[in-house]
Amino acid sequence: MVKKQRVRKKKAEESYCLGIESTADDFSVGVSTFKGEILANIRSSYVPAEGGIHPREAARHHSEQASTVLREALGKAALKPADLSIIAFSQGPGLGPCLRTGATVARALASYLDIPLVGVNHCIAHIEIGKLKTEAIDPITLYVSGGNTIVAAFDAGRYRVFGETLDIALGNCLDVFAREACLRQKQGMPLGALVEKLAAKGTRLLELPYAVKGMDVSMSGLLTTAVTLLKKGKCRLEDLCYSLQETAFSMVTEISERGLAHTEKKEVLLTGGVAANRRLQAMIEEIAREHDARFCVVPSEFAVDNGAMIAWTGVLAYTHDIVTPINQSHVKLRWRLDEVEVPWIG
Ligand code: AMP
Ligand code: MG
Repeated sequence: MVKKQRVRKKKAEESYCLGIESTADDFSVGVSTFKGEILANIRSSYVPAEGGIHPREAARHHSEQASTVLREALGKAALKPADLSIIAFSQGPGLGPCLRTGATVARALASYLDIPLVGVNHCIAHIEIGKLKTEAIDPITLYVSGGNTIVAAFDAGRYRVFGETLDIALGNCLDVFAREACLRQKQGMPLGALVEKLAAKGTRLLELPYAVKGMDVSMSGLLTTAVTLLKKGKCRLEDLCYSLQETAFSMVTEISERGLAHTEKKEVLLTGGVAANRRLQAMIEEIAREHDARFCVVPSEFAVDNGAMIAWTGVLAYTHDIVTPINQSHVKLRWRLDEVEVPWIG
């Protein structure tokens, strides 16, 4: 309580939250003022030598990079550690070893500086940074990333899940296919973006399993069929990328449209790493137009996992009386966004 009053006495533009993101392959540190001005957003991504993300290897990357990323973020924000008012961190959902590394850094900083700690739900942070950056107020959100595929909207005190994947996430589906096709992740060019580039040269739509079940989607059958066709070597890679994108994006667009029709929201927000994809943007923009809703897409810097979104959501939570005592700061690997109270809305 005492600490909190100390923060509140400062003006919002002079109070700063440092946010740490470490749920999967990215270790990122962002700094936000209490007014939502993002002063820094620095990221270091773990790129596996081969195959998918190995949680312990990613965690090792995070611990090795933490001090460099922290120092760079504070430098970019032109702040000293003592200027910080609160520390926020991604408390879940995510990969255990990765989450624990970020949480340990956050706990150490908050204890050493003697300032409050705020555990943030990673999925909600993707929505909140999208709202901050697009000025959306009450959108229905399609959140698509390497680990999540969710249609969510605020209703009665919480974000509610209207639809989601029953198996793998959209970004993961694209990444696995890209790896099977031996596409190499280049610095600054995610695998999904490589699929997008090839898909733009596709001309033939191949029939792939389209699996929408109620308000949910399933991507694993689609991925298996696409990989099987790839291995047979009879289809152009461009046509496979094109067909994979068209089929997977149509599935998530269908459930987003039904969520939009049901909730009658006036804004549609596209967020998460896959939101950077132009073809998906065009599909979601189309349904927004058909329902007279405003289409909002998070800027690409804030689409992939980033510390700024954790910092900003930490501000929202803290200024609405949410703090996370150290003894309750254990990570939550399967923390669903509909379990979280969001007193800053409504
Ligand atoms: P995140 O999990 O939010 O960090 O986002 C990473 C995911 O976004 C990975 O699966 C990437 O392949 C995917 N991604 C990034 N850029 C694009 C793009 N242009 N098109 C499709 N997927 C993308
Ligand atoms: Mg990531």
